[in-house]
Amino acid sequence: MFELVKNKLKNAKKIVIVTGAGISQESGIPTFRGKDGLWRNYDAMKLATIDAFYDDPKLVWEWYAERRTNIFSAIPNAGHIAIAQLEKYCDVVILTQNIDGLHQRAGSNNVLELHGSIVRIKCTVCDFVDDLINEFNNLPPMCKCGNILRPDVVWFGESLPQDVWEKALIHSSSCDVMIIAGTSLVVSPANTLPIFAKENDATLIEVNPEETIMSKDMDLTIRDTSANVMPNLITEIFE
Ligand code: NAD
Repeated sequence: MFELVKNKLKNAKKIVIVTGAGISQESGIPTFRGKDGLWRNYDAMKLATIDAFYDDPKLVWEWYAERRTNIFSAIPNAGHIAIAQLEKYCDVVILTQNIDGLHQRAGSNNVLELHGSIVRIKCTVCDFVDDLINEFNNLPPMCKCGNILRPDVVWFGESLPQDVWEKALIHSSSCDVMIIAGTSLVVSPANTLPIFAKENDATLIEVNPEETIMSKDMDLTIRDTSANVMPNLITEIFE
């Protein structure tokens, strides 16, 4: 089995890499699920919703401000760097659920952010969008139109940016290999991407220390962390 998967990887014209919070865990950025998913005793999963935001926008802004401090002081780990180096060998598209920008900082050129970015803000009502240069003194910040500003991220229950999602589907449906690293594959619709790849007869490889709900559908599962696995995988196959 491993030889077969190795050959598929070696001869792949397009590799799509689907990543989640786990790929940044070794850069010191906590995941949402498990013991790390708590902030000041709040459940991170419950804070990342529009209802939590409207209940207490100041609290959610404080949470994002703290996450930004953590993310800006983090550096890409060996997993992000190995993925960026993969571009030397074939077309690579990264479909990330992360909002931390670490793939881009590692040098990856083709990254689609399915769930937005922690450095962008937008208005809750009008179409204002901008990069956040400095943290605001007064929270929550207000838009010129008089409504509350929010992080430009996709919260649980919200739709993905349509243009990004359409591109993600096109790439997933046309790749030869999909590597799924550091995601529990429980967040929809990102967790449907491997199904589109499988329909194109792509080889699916999962990198995750834990079993996921889709592990049994993979052609190969590697039960280790992405910073351990990705550099070795690439050296072994391409160098
Ligand atoms: P998740 O928290 O549901 O699952 C994380 C997965 O990563 C788990 O399956 C875990 O076993 C695995 N994992 C943990 N450490 C790992 C490692 N070192 N190497 C490889 N895998 C590891 O994350 P998710 O599936 O991305 O879904 C949660 C949502 O949380 C997403 O929407 C995402 O936007 C958001 N989120 C993003 C960040 C970030 O930008 N870094 C951080 C936390 C949450």
